Amino acid sequence: MATFKDFRNNIKPNWCPGCGDFSVQAAIQRASANVGLEPENLAVVSGIGCSGRISGYINSYGFHSIHGRSLPIAQGVKMANRDLTVIASGGDGDGFAIGMAHTVHAIRRNIDVTYIVMDNHIYGLTKGQTSPRSAEGFKTKSTPTGSIESQISIMELAISSGAGFVAQSFSSDLKELTSIIEQGINHKGFSLINVFSPCVTFNKVNTYEWFKENITKLDAIEGYDPANRTQAVNTLMDHNGLVTGLIYQNKERPSYEQLVNGFSETGLVKQNISLEKDTFDGLL
Ligand code: SF4
Ligand code: MG
Repeated sequence: MATFKDFRNNIKPNWCPGCGDFSVQAAIQRASANVGLEPENLAVVSGIGCSGRISGYINSYGFHSIHGRSLPIAQGVKMANRDLTVIASGGDGDGFAIGMAHTVHAIRRNIDVTYIVMDNHIYGLTKGQTSPRSAEGFKTKSTPTGSIESQISIMELAISSGAGFVAQSFSSDLKELTSIIEQGINHKGFSLINVFSPCVTFNKVNTYEWFKENITKLDAIEGYDPANRTQAVNTLMDHNGLVTGLIYQNKERPSYEQLVNGFSETGLVKQNISLEKDTFDGLL
């Protein structure tokens, strides 16, 4: 049986020392081993940004795709080979700006992909511009007098779009983050995991200390029930979205694979589809 070390490769990450993305990488490796995967059972698809490098640092199938487009590729991988566990990953700029339409429609579609977003409230790779997760008033090179746009409330948006699994965690809490990723992988359907993953180089506001001071763990809220959609939304609003843990899960919602005609049992790679020219006759 594989351990987290089997999901390591010999490529040294070139993230800045202290970047939150190191923990996300470690948590994916631990969670993959903990749920019983072998490296050949896992595919990690990433977008563009500092976080996008993560697919190259994990010993598994991997695809470093294009900006905002990790989800279409991840969904295609899952539909083609149901036996793979598919993780899509990227940053808040990647997933919630250029890739936002894909995020919302992947939530609606509900293909069994675990989407892990490293949310540092800024664009890191391009050296520090305001992202959709930056707060109003946030000063960067692109907003020198402070952002005049509002911060997107991604967890509330996901729930209102019909998400069956919505969770949040924090890079400095490896135990919780690993557990949340395990739960996301085990969930049958699309799961969105937003991770507060500080950019130590360009974001001097939303630091590890800032998150520690402002985050409320859902475990600490008496009577919190992740099956209660109304409570989930109200709690997010009460805490300005700064909660960690399993926020909402609907275990009853069937996945796309379970519902789509003709694809209920196996993925395309198991259906012996011929790629001869006449395969497409009448379709093209
Ligand atoms: Fe991480 Fe920021 Fe450095 Fe990118 S620039 S590797 S997000 S600390
Ligand atoms: Mg970012």
